[in-house]
Amino acid sequence: MRIAVIGGGPGGLYFAALVKQVAPGHEVVLWERGEAEDAIGFGVVFSDGALGGVQAADPVLFDSVIDRFVRWESVGVRYRGRTISHDGYRFSAVGRRSLLRLLRERCAHRGVELRFASAAPPLPVLRSEFDLVVAADGVGSATRSSRPEAFGTRLEPRDSRYLWMGTDRMFDELTFAVVETPHGPLQVHAYPYAPGHSTFIVETTDRVLRAGGLEQPGRSPEDTARAVAALLEADEGLLGGHRLICTGSRWGRFTSVRNDRWSDGNAVLLGDAAHTTHFSIGSGTKLAMEDAVALAMALTDNRDLPDALAAYEAERKPAVERMQRVAEVSRDWFEHVDERIGLPPGEFTSHLLTRSGRISHRDLPLLDRDHVERVRNWFALTLATTS
Ligand SMILES: Cc1cc2nc3c(=O)[nH]c(=O)nc-3n(C[C@H](O)[C@H](O)[C@H](O)COP(=O)(O)OP(=O)(O)OC[C@H]3O[C@@H](n4cnc5c(N)ncnc54)[C@H](O)[C@@H]3O)c2cc1C
Repeated sequence: MRIAVIGGGPGGLYFAALVKQVAPGHEVVLWERGEAEDAIGFGVVFSDGALGGVQAADPVLFDSVIDRFVRWESVGVRYRGRTISHDGYRFSAVGRRSLLRLLRERCAHRGVELRFASAAPPLPVLRSEFDLVVAADGVGSATRSSRPEAFGTRLEPRDSRYLWMGTDRMFDELTFAVVETPHGPLQVHAYPYAPGHSTFIVETTDRVLRAGGLEQPGRSPEDTARAVAALLEADEGLLGGHRLICTGSRWGRFTSVRNDRWSDGNAVLLGDAAHTTHFSIGSGTKLAMEDAVALAMALTDNRDLPDALAAYEAERKPAVERMQRVAEVSRDWFEHVDERIGLPPGEFTSHLLTRSGRISHRDLPLLDRDHVERVRNWFALTLATTS
C-alpha cells in the first residue's frame, strides 16, 4: 500500500511510524512544510494516565519520551497575588520539540520517507498517486477546507485569543493565573516542561487585546513578549523578574473543529484537522496520537480501505466528542472569567478547579485499562507476526 501523510506534527509522525512498524512493506511518504526543527509551541502537558494506549503502541519510543518528562502532582490557582495549590493530581510534560524529534527519529529508523520544508502536493494529485492520503495538517487543514461538504465540517471561531510563549521561570506545578490589568483580565496557563523552562500561554479576549494594544501587526516577537510582560506586572510575583520568550507575535484564535465524516474517498482526517479541544485541558496532542494508533490498527485489521476508515471513525469519533464536551465547559469558564472576578480567592479557586461543579482535572485522565491492554497486545502480536 502507498500512503501519503500531510503534516509532520505529533499525529502525522506517530501514524507514519506505527504503520511502518506493523506493515514494513507499505510505502509511507510524509510532507511537512516547516523545517524539521521549526516546531511551534514550547511544552505539551499530559495528565496522569493520559498516555494510555498511545504509550502501549510503542513502549520503546515512550521510554525515551518518559525519560524527558518533568512531573508534578498539584495544580495552583493564582489570583490577586496569592497561589492556592491543590494536591492529588499527577501531570507530566515534555518539550514539543523533543517529542517531535523522537518521533522523527522513529520514522526515519523505520523507513518513512520524510520530506521537510516541502508543502504536500495538491490533494487530487496525492489521491491519484497514493492508495491513502492521511490529512494530519492541523487545525487550519487545507485538505479539510478543500472539501467542507464532503467532511461535513463545522468550524466555530471563539472569542478566546491566545499566545503560546515560554519563560525561563520554572513553575513547579500547573498554574492557572488570572491577572487583573487596567484593560481587563489576562489568564495564564503555565507549567514546567524541561529544567529551567516553562510553557506560558496567555489567553484573553478581543476586547482586552484591543484595549491593551497587545495586537499590533508587524510587531516583533520580542516586543510582543515585552508588552505582555509589562501588563502582567500587575501581579509582580507571577513572573518574579523572569522573562517571557515569544517565537511568533500572532495571537491565535481558538476554533472548535468538528467533522460529521472523517473520510472522503481515500482521504482521511487525523488529529487537529479532524477535531480540536480547548488547550486549557491539554489533550490535543494525546488525541492526535490516539487517532494515529486507531488508524494504524484499523488499516491492518481490515482488508478493505472503506471498512478500515469506517472502523477508525467509529472508534475515535465518540471518544473525541466526549473530550470535546469536557473541553467546552473548560473553555466557557475561561471565556467568561470576568464574571467570577471579585469572588474571594478560596471560592475562585474551587470554582476554577471544578469549572462550576461540572468538571475537575481529576475527571480528565480517564485511563481505560482494557483499551490499553488491547493496544499493547495487538501491537506486540502484530509485530511478532511481521518480523
Ligand atoms: C496554545 C496551545 C497550547 C496547547 N497546549 C497543549 C498541551 O499542553 N498539551 C496537548 O496535548 N496539546 C496542546 N495543544 C494542542 C496541540 O498542539 C495539538 O492538538 C497538536 O499539535 C495536534 O497535532 P496534529 O499532528 O494533529 O497537528 P499539528 O501539530 O498542528 O501539526 C500539523 C502539521 O502539518 C503541517 N502542514 C500543514 N499543512 C501542510 C501542507 N500543506 N504540507 C505540509 N505540511 C503541512 C504544519 O506545518 C504542522 O507542522 C495546544 C494548542 C495550543 C494552540
